[in-house]
Amino acid sequence: MAPGGSACKEVESYPAVADYAIATTKPESNSMTTKSSFGFVGKHGIQSNNGVYELLECPVCKNLMYPPIHQCPNGHTLCLNCKNRVHNCCPSCQYDLGNIRCLALERFAESLELPCKYHSLGCHEILPYYSKLKHEQHCRFRPYNCPYAGSDCSITGDIPTLIAHLKDDHKVDMHDGCTFNHRYVKLNPHEVENATWMLTVFKCFGKQFCLHFEAFQMGMAPVYMAFLRFMGDDSEAKKFSYCLEVGANGRKLTWQGIPRSIRDSHRKVRDSQDGLVIQRNLALYFSGGDRQELKLRVTGRIWKEA
Ligand SMILES: [Zn+2]
Ligand SMILES: [Zn+2]
Ligand SMILES: [Zn+2]
Ligand SMILES: [Zn+2]
Repeated sequence: MAPGGSACKEVESYPAVADYAIATTKPESNSMTTKSSFGFVGKHGIQSNNGVYELLECPVCKNLMYPPIHQCPNGHTLCLNCKNRVHNCCPSCQYDLGNIRCLALERFAESLELPCKYHSLGCHEILPYYSKLKHEQHCRFRPYNCPYAGSDCSITGDIPTLIAHLKDDHKVDMHDGCTFNHRYVKLNPHEVENATWMLTVFKCFGKQFCLHFEAFQMGMAPVYMAFLRFMGDDSEAKKFSYCLEVGANGRKLTWQGIPRSIRDSHRKVRDSQDGLVIQRNLALYFSGGDRQELKLRVTGRIWKEA
């Protein structure tokens, strides 16, 4: 029982993910002369059989701990998030937690240099413990989200994994070549406010590009939008350009742009209007016929900037 007689209740369960206040004050170290380094990467990027992992893992939420690391009078450590949730009661021994920092463990963590958790995906960075989280949020080897826009798909992975996933699970059309000519069809286009057409993936220059076509309301106006996303990082996406064209009866609308990385969600690209936007009336005019059916031919080309 806790000193002072306050009865503490046992902690039951916690979400696996905690919001850390990330400490990033330690300067980045490029030195490979690691103070403590680990060749093998476990669950958090730390070798698990040397005890370091157990020491720095919060016993309550199982996440790695960052300052301020707290402890109870008996020395049980826990992270700040968990401390705030257990109502001042140590989950291990039920004593009052008080407000005791575990500076020794914080200093110990500071002395560590660890591999990035995306080591197995190709990142060879070795990072100071307190810089690791920040690096991992921006690591270029971190997995990509599935670029399929039609549903909330939770699949993540590297590009080859996602290409296989798009083919197998979303039945996406895959095309080779840097030019395209695509017809988007919709019956009763006047009824449609929001729609997403099947994604098309083009392979050229040994890379993959996703062609999106969507209908939505821009302000009060119903519009269609076509745009391209690059399956890779932004730095590489910038090496490419593309153009899109729609037209009929001697009129045409063209767009030239730079494909956006799939790191940017299709929604983000759409909201920034970074693509060919076509008013519905014009799209129906370009469709020919009696304006009761959308039959819009979108042609385009991708090229690599010199
Ligand atoms: Zn915790
Ligand atoms: Zn305790
Ligand atoms: Zn990394
Ligand atoms: Zn998916």
